[in-house]
Amino acid sequence: MNLSTLAAVVKSRFPSQCAVCRSWPSAPVCQACVTRFGPPDKRCSTCALKLPTDPPHTQCSRCRHEPFGLDACFAALPYAFPWSELVSRFKFDSQTGWAPFMVNTLLGQPTVRDFLSQLTPDDWLLPLPLSTERLAWRGFNQAWELTRALKHQSTCRATADASLLLRIRHTRPQSELKRSARLDNLKGAFAVAPLRASELQGRRVVLVDDVMTSGASLLTAASVLRQAGATHVSALVLTRTAPT
Ligand SMILES: [Zn+2]
Ligand SMILES: [Zn+2]
Repeated sequence: MNLSTLAAVVKSRFPSQCAVCRSWPSAPVCQACVTRFGPPDKRCSTCALKLPTDPPHTQCSRCRHEPFGLDACFAALPYAFPWSELVSRFKFDSQTGWAPFMVNTLLGQPTVRDFLSQLTPDDWLLPLPLSTERLAWRGFNQAWELTRALKHQSTCRATADASLLLRIRHTRPQSELKRSARLDNLKGAFAVAPLRASELQGRRVVLVDDVMTSGASLLTAASVLRQAGATHVSALVLTRTAPT
């Protein structure tokens, strides 16, 4: 564990300054800032895009007209200040100590808690995998840190596993590509671990990731899981960006 990771872990365990408004003593982000910057948005139940409050649909117009590749999708926070910056610190500055706080924002939503409480040990909680190259470069998979925190901080009984779904091909970062090129970039990127497809037959799978942009990675992974026999594939993400 390097020094900045250790500092983040210590900060997340012991009250200190709020990382946003610097009030002290505080949780990693004080309750006033959570309330101010993180009011729960009404989101599409299948793609997690923000919905207008009126009319009162549960899905966005796109998901109502063509099926999305996920059965359900939940996002905790708006992709805006301060959350976008904190998610970047968590992911790019190796500050894995942010995972418990981030997961708490997800578990703060009654719909997420209800959804997780229905899962059984036969269901899977799978982090979106990184390629071997990216994992070596970053040193950790941020989605696995979130998955482990989810298991630790909730009563979810689904089985967490970081080696059932694999990323077998290194691809260019999706953020460098236009929307139309993102699905192509991911062709053949994911696979179920050799000899383990039977473990997905008839099962429910919940994919976990940090940021959902176009959703191409989650949709491609979901399609691979369905081909292996999964009957229900959903996703939990910290934040969903606005459409690009
Ligand atoms: Zn604050
Ligand atoms: Zn939608």
